[in-house]
Amino acid sequence: MSDYRNDLAVVVLSGGVGGARLARGLDAVCTDLTVVVNVGDDDVIYGLFVSPDLDTVVYTLAGIEGSHGWGLADDSFDVMGHLGGFGLDNQFQIGDRDLATNLFRTARLREGAALSSITAAVASSMSVGPRVLPATDHRVPTRVRSGTTWMPFQEYFVLRGGTDVVDELRYEGADQAEAAPGVVEAIDRADIVVIAPSNPPLSVWPILAIPGIREAVQRSSRVMAVSPLFAGRALKGPADRVMASLGLPAGNQGVADAYQGLVTDLVVDVGDADEPVETEAAIHPLDTRIADRMAASRFARALLELP
Ligand code: GDP
Ligand code: CA
Repeated sequence: MSDYRNDLAVVVLSGGVGGARLARGLDAVCTDLTVVVNVGDDDVIYGLFVSPDLDTVVYTLAGIEGSHGWGLADDSFDVMGHLGGFGLDNQFQIGDRDLATNLFRTARLREGAALSSITAAVASSMSVGPRVLPATDHRVPTRVRSGTTWMPFQEYFVLRGGTDVVDELRYEGADQAEAAPGVVEAIDRADIVVIAPSNPPLSVWPILAIPGIREAVQRSSRVMAVSPLFAGRALKGPADRVMASLGLPAGNQGVADAYQGLVTDLVVDVGDADEPVETEAAIHPLDTRIADRMAASRFARALLELP
């Protein structure tokens, strides 16, 4: 299987970990891969412009990702320790080497560079092959309403651990944003668009909220979504809870409904093959556990070979 190569043009819509794992699998088997990444999680922390999903995707494609789904492998946290010494809230942990990426991005943004060109520079410095594009160069911060309180995404996700009930989401500024250069073109040129096994409301909807992107996906003849759920549960993180509190049905029916009218195919885990799902999309059960590199490339090949 290692010599299997595919010249299909493939675009992945990706959040952080789930998307990065799929992208790594596809990178092993595709020569023409573009990854369009959520930037709704971006924020300013310690004065630095953080872009967690972009970094997770780039680091994973470079094979240097941290084991917890963020940051770099074997990073040290000396700076965070010293920041804590000033009495600063340092719950948002950024490793020392990971800080370099964030310093570089922040400095270049201040000079007026676009996030897409900075991301290309970071990816190329790490010898990443696929094109990695932010969904947009505009700021489109996701805001989360729990009860009567609106909060920034990172407050909900990192500081409060993603445990609050999510009653409503807002992708602020999305309706005035434009897709980053190359995003719509890549989708229009793609033979297959794959919606990664990412959190639908928190990672994929913010991408689809950028004007032009949903329409481009809708024009595509083949759009496959990969479910992030196993027996109705996310492997990690709040996807199943957020989907439920936003009114989506449990399990893969919820994933089908989250992408209703958008996808031609829905890939579910083999373990959930018997779960009934009502949808126009074709349902394909595959082994969707793609944490390790080999499993991810096997999965990617199976995905591209689906009838
Ligand atoms: P985040 O931005 O880092 O939270 O990551 P994403 O939104 O891209 O992905 C989060 C989702 O990835 C969770 O709902 C997980 O269930 C899913 N996920 C993580 N690893 C895997 C995997 O190996 N296979 C599948 N199918 N889903 C996964
Ligand atoms: Ca994320």
